[in-house]
Amino acid sequence: MTKAKAISILGSTGSIGCNTLKVVEHLGDVRVVAMAAGRNIEKFVEQIERFSPELVACSDEECAVLLERATAKLDKRPRIECGEAGLVAVATHEEADIVVSATVGAVGFIPTLRAIEAGKRIALANKETLVMAGELMTAAAAASGAEIVPVDSEHNAIHQCLRGERKTEVRRLILTASGGPFRTWSKEKILSATREQALDHPNWKMGEKITIDSATLMNKGLEVIEAKWLFGFDADDISVIVHPQSVVHSMVELVDGSVIAQMGVPDMKHAIQYALTYPDRHGASCDRLDLAGVGKLEFEDPDLERFPCLSLAFEALKAGGTMPAVLNAANEVSVQAFLDGKISFGEIATINAGVMRGHTSEAANTLSAVLEADASARQRAIMAISPAAAAN
Ligand code: MG
Repeated sequence: MTKAKAISILGSTGSIGCNTLKVVEHLGDVRVVAMAAGRNIEKFVEQIERFSPELVACSDEECAVLLERATAKLDKRPRIECGEAGLVAVATHEEADIVVSATVGAVGFIPTLRAIEAGKRIALANKETLVMAGELMTAAAAASGAEIVPVDSEHNAIHQCLRGERKTEVRRLILTASGGPFRTWSKEKILSATREQALDHPNWKMGEKITIDSATLMNKGLEVIEAKWLFGFDADDISVIVHPQSVVHSMVELVDGSVIAQMGVPDMKHAIQYALTYPDRHGASCDRLDLAGVGKLEFEDPDLERFPCLSLAFEALKAGGTMPAVLNAANEVSVQAFLDGKISFGEIATINAGVMRGHTSEAANTLSAVLEADASARQRAIMAISPAAAAN
């Protein structure tokens, strides 16, 4: 395949979904055959009107009724489904060559797995999927021949840096991190950071969950786990460096000491377009990099004491098995609790650590093992949050 012809989008109204549709408009020769979104019906209806997909899916029956009503006036009315079955139908739509997996959190897991089993190219933005079940996902991809092209900017960069390189000649992967809004803050100040402060990311405009993960550096931790599964490197061969300008999107160090970096403006449209057009390249859908305008590029080691979530991710990866799924589940619950004002910023890390400590890692090579680990970790995180919530 040299060019994307038809795509499905899981999570069309989110940040990645909206940018994907901008790239689709830019490319001009890509058809959107199916789209799934959550509860933002108003935006979803606008997208349906503009892109005329054959199939759409939303979160539940209630949303489906609203969607039926809102699309009744359209000339080309889409087929409407809902719930997990709806997401799976979008992910496996027979006409789709590429599935953009851009839902937030664990909800994208089963639909993405089904798309992989169906042999689709996956433009993967939902990192939780690989964090939860990297072993299952990569085994399914090997069996079906599905190609996973990462949309996460760091992994997309590494994918580009590795083109033409032999794995045996790569010494390590170097993921860059912006450092988030608290890069220069003291440990004490970070512990009591507010929701507004945590959502104020210096470089990237993203959804709320990933923006909080960027502030704790959990996002980078999840990306280390994601990198292991995408590229087949162990925790010891993946490192993280803080780079506040977010111009170098990530790097690869080769055995001879050469370091290859992929650079660009911090705009997700680049990575999305690459995932849709790979191995071809098309004219830019975002601004071009003005290096003189950027002036200087800075790098520093991450501070694991101020950002303990990054350490937790390395620990989970080294423990292996179901431990990354447990960390991911605990983190989804604790981040939501922080966003809902139930816990402090500092408690995100302590709850995640507590849930991990209470879990003994098991093999993660079956769907039921992964889903059980996920469910029990969520339950333990919720239990850990309740007393804190009661005290507030
Ligand atoms: Mg990223």
